[in-house]
Amino acid sequence: MTQYPSLHMIIDGTRVSGGNRRTSAVINPATGETLGELPLADAADLDRALEVAQSGFAIWRKSTPQERAAVLQGAARLMVERADEIARVATLEEGKPFAEAKMELMMNVGLFNFYAGEVFRLYGRELVRPEGQRSTVRWEPVGPVAAFAPWNFPLGNPGRKLGAPIAAGCSVILKSAEETPASALAILQCLLDAGLPKEVAQAVFGVPDEVSRHLLGSPIIRKLSFTGSTVVGKHLARLATENMQRTTMELGGHGPVLVFNDADVDKALANAVGGKYRNAGQVCVSPTRFIVQEDVFERFRDGFIEGARKVVVGNGLDPATTMGPMANPRRPDAMERLIGDALAKGAKLGAGGTRLGNQGYFYAPSVISEVPLDAAIMTEEPFGPVAIVNPYATEEQMIAEANRLPYGLAAYNWTNDAARQRRLAAQIEAGMVGINSHMIGGADAPFGGVKWSGHGSEDGPEGVKACMVLKAVHEG
Ligand code: NAD
Repeated sequence: MTQYPSLHMIIDGTRVSGGNRRTSAVINPATGETLGELPLADAADLDRALEVAQSGFAIWRKSTPQERAAVLQGAARLMVERADEIARVATLEEGKPFAEAKMELMMNVGLFNFYAGEVFRLYGRELVRPEGQRSTVRWEPVGPVAAFAPWNFPLGNPGRKLGAPIAAGCSVILKSAEETPASALAILQCLLDAGLPKEVAQAVFGVPDEVSRHLLGSPIIRKLSFTGSTVVGKHLARLATENMQRTTMELGGHGPVLVFNDADVDKALANAVGGKYRNAGQVCVSPTRFIVQEDVFERFRDGFIEGARKVVVGNGLDPATTMGPMANPRRPDAMERLIGDALAKGAKLGAGGTRLGNQGYFYAPSVISEVPLDAAIMTEEPFGPVAIVNPYATEEQMIAEANRLPYGLAAYNWTNDAARQRRLAAQIEAGMVGINSHMIGGADAPFGGVKWSGHGSEDGPEGVKACMVLKAVHEG
C-alpha cells in the first residue's frame, strides 16, 4: 500500500520545507483525514525560484530537440513505471476513482510523447529575397513561465503546465493547487529523474494570491498559464498586463448538450451519463445543460435518472466505485446552494439532491429538470455531479440556449441529420464541439475555449507554440 509522501516544494532541484514557513493541511476528501502538511512559500522562496528560473531559461533555450525529446519520453516512461503509485496518490488527494486517476496519468504519457515529436517541428520559414539578402521568421521560446494548475486534474493539469514550456525550450515555475500537491510533485519528479536540468522546472505552493502577485510582478516571468475559474482568471490576466506577460487562460464552462429528436438517444445517454459523473462533475468540459428536443425529452430525462441511480459512489480506492467524493468542502456546499435554489424556483428533482454519508465530501449523482432560466445554476458553472435537463421545441431555440451564456468551452451535439451537424459545427460558440461524441480532446488537438472560457490553447502543436514568440530577422 502506497504511503502518502512527505510534502515539499522543489526549488533549484532541492526539496524545500520546514523552517518558519507556514503550512496548510492536505485532506483526503473521502475521509476528511489529514494526509500531510504542505509548506507554503515565503517571499524569499519565490525570489529564489525566479532567479533559478532565469538561469534555467538560459540553459534550456539552447537545448537541442533531441535533448527535449529524451526528457519528455523519459518522463513518460517513468510515469508508466510508477503509474499505480502515482494514481493512488491522486486518488488519496482528490478523491476520483483510481481507474480515472490512472487514465489521467496516461493522458500525460500520450501528451509528453506527442510533444517529444513536436519539438522537431518548431521551425519557421525563409522569405523570398534577392540574392545576397536573407529574411527568416523564427519561433523562439517565450521565456520563464508562471503556471497555475487547479486540483480537479491533479496529474493532467501539471502535465500540461510543465510539458508545453519544456517542449518549447522555456523554464517554468509551477504552482499547482495546494489541495493536491503530491500529484504535481510526482509529475515534476518524473521529468527531473528523466534528466531535466534542475533549474528548468520548479514547484512552489503558497497562498495563491500572494504567489501569483509575486511571480507576475516580476519581469523575469514572460508568460502566465492558468487553469481555473473565470473570476480568478480575469484577476490574473489583469495582473499580467503590468509586465505585458503573454497568457494562456483555460477557464470555466457550462457545457451545453443538444439532443435532437433524430438522435440515437441510447448512445447519447450512455455518453452523457458517463461524462457527467466523471470526476464527480468537477471537469471544465463537463456536460451540464442538457438541451433536449421535445419528442425525446421524457425518454432522455428518465434514462438519465436511471443512469444516475446506477452510479456507485464511494472511496476512489474501492474498485467498485464509479464516482468518488467531491474534492473539497466548497463543492458540496455549492451543490446544496445551487440545487436548493433551482428547486425553490420550480425545478423538478429527478435524482440525488443530497449529501451522502457522514464523512468526506460526498454528494449524490443528481438530475434536475424543467429548470427556469432565473435559477442560478442556469448561469453559474455548477462544477459538480448534477445534470440539468430541459425541453425545447426548435433547433433555433436550442442553439440560442447553447450560446446564451458568456462561456464557450465544450459543447456536445446528438443528431443524425447531416445538414444539421454542419449547421451546429458552424453556429455553436465553443472552442471544442462534439458531434455524436463526447471525446473532444487528444494530445494532438488544441484544448481551449472562447468568450469567458478563456483564450489560447493547450495540447496539440498549438500548446507548444503558445510558449513561443516570433522573431523576424532581415539580413542585408
Ligand atoms: P477558485 O476559483 O478560488 O480556485 C480555482 C483555482 O485557482 C484553484 O486551483 C486555486 O488554487 C487557484 N487560485 C485561486 N486564486 C488564485 C490566485 N489569486 N492566484 C493563482 N491561483 C489562484 O475556487 P475553487 O473553489 O478552487 O474552485 C471553484 C471554481 O473554480 C469551480 O466552481 C470551477 O468553476 C473553477 N475551476 C475550474 C477548473 C478548470 O479546469 N477550468 C478547475 C478547478 C476549478
